[in-house]
Amino acid sequence: MTDLCPALAFPRLPALRALPAALLAATALCCALPAQARGPAPGRDEAATARYYGQLIAGAEPRSAELTLFTTQLPKGGDLHHHYSGALYAETYLDWVGKAGACVWREDVAGVAGAQRFRIESKPAALPAEARAHCLDAGAVLADNGFYRQLLMRWSDKDFANHPHDALPPDQQFFDTFGYFGPISGWSYRDGLALLKQRALDENVQYLETMLRSAPRLGPRPLIDAINALPPDADDAQLFAALAALADAIEADPATARQIADYAAQLADAAAGLDDDRFTLRFQTYVVRGFAPGEVFASLVGSYLAAQASPLIVGVNIVGPENGYIAMRDYGLHMRMFRFLNQRHPGVRLALHAGELTLGMVPPEGLQDHIRQAVEVAGAARIGHGIDVLHERQPWALLDELRARDIAVEINLSSNDFILGVAGAAHPVVLYRRAGVPFVISTDDAGVSRNNLSGEYALFAARYKPSYAELKQAAYSSIRHSFLSPADKAQQIGRLDARYKAFEASVAAMLSRTGQR
Ligand SMILES: [Zn+2]
Repeated sequence: MTDLCPALAFPRLPALRALPAALLAATALCCALPAQARGPAPGRDEAATARYYGQLIAGAEPRSAELTLFTTQLPKGGDLHHHYSGALYAETYLDWVGKAGACVWREDVAGVAGAQRFRIESKPAALPAEARAHCLDAGAVLADNGFYRQLLMRWSDKDFANHPHDALPPDQQFFDTFGYFGPISGWSYRDGLALLKQRALDENVQYLETMLRSAPRLGPRPLIDAINALPPDADDAQLFAALAALADAIEADPATARQIADYAAQLADAAAGLDDDRFTLRFQTYVVRGFAPGEVFASLVGSYLAAQASPLIVGVNIVGPENGYIAMRDYGLHMRMFRFLNQRHPGVRLALHAGELTLGMVPPEGLQDHIRQAVEVAGAARIGHGIDVLHERQPWALLDELRARDIAVEINLSSNDFILGVAGAAHPVVLYRRAGVPFVISTDDAGVSRNNLSGEYALFAARYKPSYAELKQAAYSSIRHSFLSPADKAQQIGRLDARYKAFEASVAAMLSRTGQR
């Protein structure tokens, strides 16, 4: 239980003393909140479960098989950092290639747009006959085992590390997958979400907050171009005038309102019938950070409007490789766009990918302020990844601020290991735990990583040996830091309580049956 509020053991730092009293009060509240883990003395089943779990992680070599079984059964609450298209496995996409009558390019074909090896072609009938011969239907892919295996490796991280072969840089391997399966990933949101629901239930997950698709990008070209033409050092007055002109035009346009309503309706249709007393689904919408500034802002306006139009859209995110040239150049500009829209549309919640960077990936100056800007300029309520915190300016003050403002960091261990090569003691989750910053365990892209949330919990437990109380707190944090309404959160907490009661009873019964108790 000593790990529950490590902030209490963290050295008091000057920056913490400088924080306003309200924030310090929030800190005390934050540390007092996880009643499920800190409340009444644990019952007999909970104590037996905690003892058993302690045995699984004790010693230099965790009992991995039993630990994986344990975390698979463990109630895990929600998955808050979840990309829909990256969550589905390549096998599902190949199945959809067959159902949609699409094909997969067996090789690059010069002169045919999009004819890139392993990429899906969604309209084979429109291809010239000579090109069509180079694009395989799903049956032909499955009949060619060599090509099929190569395809799984290109559409995911499968077999990247377990045998020598011509390999791309890991971050390129990871992000390229979306270009291959992208043309089919929206084939049936209903089927995909139903599959993800079943998978969640199978591993005792009750809530998904997924990024399904981006909101429409709208607005008159001249006003978008005016933002693109701003000088890099434009001050707030100059920037906000250009942003306001485009936002005014978008928000006054009836056609825009219809497109936003259509988008919200598509999401509602995709989610129809999925919520029940065992499972709840909500969406984040998002913008892609690699486009020109005017395009990013137009997309952001659409995202904010959509979030306000639909109760199913509970937050806004920004995605794409953070180390890209435009992403790095415009990072601060994007954060100011969020700040502008927060003033215009208060109440929209932000979970922002920030600090998915490591030393060597970009020049050192690029590692110094992304998390802080996401929090202080953009007003993010959650941080995705937060890896570069160890390189930020005034890092201890930043950690204090994250804790004091109760901003949770979404920890994606497999994704960070693969894309950034950050693992073990080098992963900043050790800093977040030590500083008492709230965090959640999430998957990022389970289909690309070929993992699931249980695997992420097993990795977290085996590597960092958190107490059972801390593991449980991570699951409760995934509900507490979700963007659900307070009433929905209370309902989900009640459901999580019931799941833990059942889980701990089942572990205790197993221990009795096998003479371990
Ligand atoms: Zn992500």
